[in-house]
Amino acid sequence: MTSSVYSETAFNIAIKGKSPTIPQSVEIDLTNSCNQDCSYCNTADFRAKTPDQTKIHHYHKLIEQLVKWGYTSGNGSVKTITFVGGGEPTVRKGYEYVVEQAIDSGFLTSIVTNGSYLDRLSNLPDETIKQLSWVGIDIDSGDPNVYESVRRSKTKGLYDKVKDNVRWLTSINNRVDVKVLLHPETVSYESLSKTFEYGKVVGARMLYFRIAVLKDGIFIPPESTYKIIEDLSLKFGVKAKVNKTRLISRNYKKCHALFMLPVFCSDGNVYMCCENRGNPNFSLGSWVDGDFWEKWGEQEHKKMYNDIDVKLCQPCRPHVHNIKVEESLVNHDYHQELFL
Ligand code: SF4
Ligand code: SF4
Repeated sequence: MTSSVYSETAFNIAIKGKSPTIPQSVEIDLTNSCNQDCSYCNTADFRAKTPDQTKIHHYHKLIEQLVKWGYTSGNGSVKTITFVGGGEPTVRKGYEYVVEQAIDSGFLTSIVTNGSYLDRLSNLPDETIKQLSWVGIDIDSGDPNVYESVRRSKTKGLYDKVKDNVRWLTSINNRVDVKVLLHPETVSYESLSKTFEYGKVVGARMLYFRIAVLKDGIFIPPESTYKIIEDLSLKFGVKAKVNKTRLISRNYKKCHALFMLPVFCSDGNVYMCCENRGNPNFSLGSWVDGDFWEKWGEQEHKKMYNDIDVKLCQPCRPHVHNIKVEESLVNHDYHQELFL
């Protein structure tokens, strides 16, 4: 999504007070369950306390509603759906048919996964699998010992199974990236070297590195890490991208993302913040019962925007989007250009 789309949304909400545009992107949690117990997982407490309250047919209905929202509102439409979590999306039985429905409905559809049951996608035609916009597979390390130390699988043999799954998927779809968290246990030369080897063997489009936000704050990798990544990328012929946006200072006082990326959670509620699943202060209520769209952009939603104190937030995934929206809101020349 471009910064201008975010700007337009924030402009409608924060400045003009008009009815808000529909968010271009939504996230859908297919489950709160997970077959791993990653040491850095930010949903561990939520998952422990909150079992799934959804059935698979609720997701099929949700996709239909997302299509309808675009037709009926006349104020934009959802374009991208990312199946993420919550928990691990591929452990949900029948998940592949929800993904298929999203693709067939014309949404740009992505999955963020630990790769465990990607093989269930083989129930779909190759032509459908080819249309997945992106699959991001979290492995953190190509070294099986580091992988298990960080990801703490609850079932045996996951490292090998995931590797086979990734290799199979890249043979059909060329937009499959392997994701690696730069974490105290994953930044050694040995671990990084095995991660690049893994990326080459499975045929990943690229290795995508990002900075870890741990319970006690951001992990700053040793400066040498970036040079090691660059060198290994050349050595193995595997493209690498390092996302350091979480290190950029905050320039915003309001979270504009509260209008941009609703999360349809498997506890049956819709949350406006991907870091606050289970927190009623960030929820517009049930997406399973009733019509949550009626609350979108209304008083309760605006109050949330006004009340949330971002000083309490760790640098989050939408951090960079908030920065870009803020830049456009304070840069009036840029602002005018957007709405000419
Ligand atoms: S795979 Fe994802 S949801 Fe599961 S423990 Fe790891 S980070 Fe958490
Ligand atoms: S963590 Fe804070 S800044 Fe990030 S999306 Fe949530 S409310 Fe917004």
